[in-house]
Amino acid sequence: MSANVKEKVQERDRRQEEGIDVAAWFKQHGESVAVIGSGALTLMAWLLSGQSQLSVGLFLLAYIIGGYAKMKEGIITLVKERDLDVNLLMLLAAIGAASIGYWLEGAVLIFIFAVSGVLENYTLAKSYREIASLMDMKPEMAVRLIDGQEHAVKIEELQVKDLVIVKPGERIPADGIVKDGVSFVDQAMITGESVPVEKATGEEVFAGTLNGQGSLIIEVTSSSESTLFSKIIRMVQEAQSEKPASQQFMERFESTYAKSVLGITVVLIMIPPFVFGWSWTEALYRAMVFLVVASPCALVASVMPVILSAISSSARKGVLFKGGAHLEILAEIKAIAVDKTGTLTLGRPQVTDIHAYQGYERNDILRIAGAIEMMSEHPISLALIEKAKEEGIELIRPNQMQSFPGRGVAAEYEGLNWKVGNADFVGSELFDEQTRERINELEKQGKTVIYLTNHEGLAGLFAIKDTIRLEAKETIAQLKNLGIAVVMLTGDREGTARAIADEAGIDEVYAEMLPADKVEKVKEMRQKYGQVAMLGDGVNDAPALATASVGIAMGITGSDVSLETADLVLVHDDLVRLPGAIRTSQKARRVIKQNIVFSLTVIFLLILSNFFQFLTLPLGVIGHEGSTILVILNGLRLLKS
Ligand code: ADP
Ligand code: MG
Repeated sequence: MSANVKEKVQERDRRQEEGIDVAAWFKQHGESVAVIGSGALTLMAWLLSGQSQLSVGLFLLAYIIGGYAKMKEGIITLVKERDLDVNLLMLLAAIGAASIGYWLEGAVLIFIFAVSGVLENYTLAKSYREIASLMDMKPEMAVRLIDGQEHAVKIEELQVKDLVIVKPGERIPADGIVKDGVSFVDQAMITGESVPVEKATGEEVFAGTLNGQGSLIIEVTSSSESTLFSKIIRMVQEAQSEKPASQQFMERFESTYAKSVLGITVVLIMIPPFVFGWSWTEALYRAMVFLVVASPCALVASVMPVILSAISSSARKGVLFKGGAHLEILAEIKAIAVDKTGTLTLGRPQVTDIHAYQGYERNDILRIAGAIEMMSEHPISLALIEKAKEEGIELIRPNQMQSFPGRGVAAEYEGLNWKVGNADFVGSELFDEQTRERINELEKQGKTVIYLTNHEGLAGLFAIKDTIRLEAKETIAQLKNLGIAVVMLTGDREGTARAIADEAGIDEVYAEMLPADKVEKVKEMRQKYGQVAMLGDGVNDAPALATASVGIAMGITGSDVSLETADLVLVHDDLVRLPGAIRTSQKARRVIKQNIVFSLTVIFLLILSNFFQFLTLPLGVIGHEGSTILVILNGLRLLKS
């Protein structure tokens, strides 16, 4: 292990021990207490306003307790980013109000501002909780080998010295040493470089890294808690870089705007006494009212509460967004590319016909094909293995295999080189006239035909029928209703693809697509439509998922690579949730627009009435803070959507 990798692994283990920082999410509780305290102190100070010294003391306390959290945020922005934000503006306004004797207004300002902070944190914590409970429902599994038998176990149950098999495209469930097999492993999760590293017998592999095209048998060297779950939570936590475009814009805007407000406030104090002949107290008062009403609190609170509420309500329905940015893009998609096997269909296909050639028995070809497919993760391989088991055939796994996503698998078995896969992969020149007719007939019935070949040619033929998901048709209809073009991209053959597409109600079909073809098609669609989504489950879909504006993976049938690559996961494989999520995202976008227009209007009106000297400081505080709270509550509506 190179020094670099070693360091990174140690770093990872440290982070794992620290665990997920739950405390941070719930720090809002402390803030709630502070808000209540500051409110109570303000009330007391107001009731005691006859005894001015005591009352001022209580106000001071209310300022400190209520303003502490926001002041910290404001100072952090000032020191770390050398930037001004609304937190500091509000505190300046409160201090300014107090300086001209308006203690109560300043305290109310701080109190309501702190309430808005608590509300925002509440949405944040809620969305984390929804996501966490969502992921809890999907325990991460590994395949343990005991005397050559495969057993599915939860990752947490793995123990040192256990043997596990990792199929192509799967995440490596625990740190370990390769005992058998060769494959390239993507260690980007640890090293940050996504150049696949070759792993052969005796080499170390790490939990959470992604297996490539080969199959590996691994001896566990340390048990692991690095589940996809903890990783996704961390990702959501670190989602700073994934902020939606509107929020990024808002943050850039906030700093310039805050500086201008401060600048104008200074001008307002200095100029009017000379130009309009205002008294200094009057000028200071107007300037403070301006500082309060012009602060962009409502504007700044326009986006994130909406996004977080939408993410959390989607999570409750089984749609996991990996970041706010994807929500905003999803609202704008004009077209969606959909994979067939495992996505539109259940991905639990059944073998319906078997034909043997070269003098092989039916059971022989089932035994050979089944054994080779034991090393693959494709739905078709499961069908062949199931069938063999049903017939009481014992399967012995080959030592090595190569998977060709979207085509098939190759392996050496009992001294011969075999291929199992589609016609293109094994070579369609191997079929005679009679076989061709048979194939056509089977494909017309919507069946997928798979071939077993060796150096002598065709040895076996299997027809496999997958059932379309119950809700597929409904989903496609709803997507079309939303004005979204639906296109099917499949690695399967034209005839089979058409049969399934007709059933689902899809008109545009592209068949026999290799992973790279799917990428090309998605690129083409982006040229044509703008924002394009891709929905898929397989190892072969992962590159296209990454190419699409929004990649969507299937939580249950989905391969680990697809789950990792996608921006959105349908956790329960429930397709109908997708149009629902699109509607939620569109609603979120509308609410964000409403919020922005509303807060700008309020700011404008308040500034105007202040300029004409209509506005008192208490009214300014109520108008300004009231609009902030309204905007947040408007966002929270999406929790119920
Ligand atoms: P889809 O794009 O519809 O999800 P894939 O691209 O995964 O389908 O597979 C395309 C075709 O490649 C399958 O219909 C099958 O003929 C062949 N194929 C892929 N993987 C395997 C495998 N493990 N065993 C046999 N055939 C396979
Ligand atoms: Mg698929």
